[in-house]
Amino acid sequence: MIVERANKLRDMAPLLSVNNLEVVFPLRSGAVSAIRDVSFELAKGERLGIVGESGAGKSVTAFAILNLLSKPGYLAGGSVRFAGNNLATLNEESLRRIRGNQISMIFQDPMMTLNPVLTIGAQMSESLRAHRAISRRQARRIALEKLQAVQIPSAETRLAQYPHELSGGMRQRVVIAIALLSDPQIIIADEPTTALDVTIQAEILQLLLRLCNDFAVGLILITHDLGVVSAVTQRILVMYAGRIVERGRTEEVIRRPLHPYTQGLLAALPEQTLPGQRLQQIPGSMPSLQEIPAGCSFHPRCQYAQAICSQASPELSAKGARAAACHFPLNPAR
Ligand code: SF4
Repeated sequence: MIVERANKLRDMAPLLSVNNLEVVFPLRSGAVSAIRDVSFELAKGERLGIVGESGAGKSVTAFAILNLLSKPGYLAGGSVRFAGNNLATLNEESLRRIRGNQISMIFQDPMMTLNPVLTIGAQMSESLRAHRAISRRQARRIALEKLQAVQIPSAETRLAQYPHELSGGMRQRVVIAIALLSDPQIIIADEPTTALDVTIQAEILQLLLRLCNDFAVGLILITHDLGVVSAVTQRILVMYAGRIVERGRTEEVIRRPLHPYTQGLLAALPEQTLPGQRLQQIPGSMPSLQEIPAGCSFHPRCQYAQAICSQASPELSAKGARAAACHFPLNPAR
């Protein structure tokens, strides 16, 4: 009874818990925060999207989770709890055991993961044998199983091929197969379909969705495209200028955005545009880290801005699962 209760509590606890994460980049002109006050949780098997334009802080958040920040950036505060550890304070060796093992990462460009001078089979075996004491034959069998799981045609033939012999979509399938090699609990996918054409993009998203369901893997999907997250994720975080400005269940955020920035991203989706119409765009651009405006950092681009918006930074205030950092959150009447 006590064990059952303990198991139940463990299953309910978040798999990953990120609290008040802050990343700082020291520049010649002074230190700047690339992300601040970033907090969220991911449950076992849950699919979370992090959305925003380039420079919003999405990828920095992903790299900060795994303590993989490029120098001179560093974690200036906050915690990342996973499997009883705070990844923000673990030493490099313990972190290496978690990266690519319990938490895998997929990048936009498959060639960031694939070694161009090794066959697919050789690099998959190498990756497996780096983490597990298994024979070459066992490694080959597992590699083949994973290639079949990502539905690569003629999987056995692919083992002997080099990355340049595969199409872009096929290379991304191989990268996903590599991410699955260690049966991870979480996959972090950073713009995994941006480099692919639209049809292949849809296939890869469907594949990620199926794999997460089949293997109960949690997914953090990072993208600039709200259309992509709406197809795959259950919850969304919207980031702007290094902060979370909106969060909520995916369908609610898409149907009724609270933050004007989310509304702008939605209006800019090609499917919102009628044939012959020009794509709508949010005026202006994301501020650089050195020039984040005072008050609400979105105010120079916001059609609803009022005097207070340039003076006071709005808190991320929550009502249940929904939250938005805006002095005048949108409502159906506006
Ligand atoms: Fe726009 Fe003001 Fe809300 Fe910022 S706080 S998003 S400027 S309405």
